[in-house]
Amino acid sequence: MIPAYLEDSLDAKDLQAFLDHIDNCDDCSEELSIQFLITEGLSTLSTGDSYDLQTAMTDKVRESHHDIEVHNRLFLLRNIGVVLVVLMTVAAFIGAYMVFLK
Ligand SMILES: [Zn+2]
Repeated sequence: MIPAYLEDSLDAKDLQAFLDHIDNCDDCSEELSIQFLITEGLSTLSTGDSYDLQTAMTDKVRESHHDIEVHNRLFLLRNIGVVLVVLMTVAAFIGAYMVFLK
């Protein structure tokens, strides 16, 4: 899962599970650091950029947490939207029924 994470190819559900695990598992977060250093270190060598890889790695994980939060918020908003549409439809039907009864 770590290589998929580094390639940004995890979907939101897997990403969340991955981040939750990384936060609580020293072995995997250590493994992530190593793989990140190798992956980013190589691309850094080829571009000639020199920057703090450990900081870059912390930033990446933080950014992923942020992405998940945004995703969850959008998901919640969408669900609220669906509920509102259903309620409005029901209200419209009830309204039409009342008018019909008169
Ligand atoms: Zn683990």
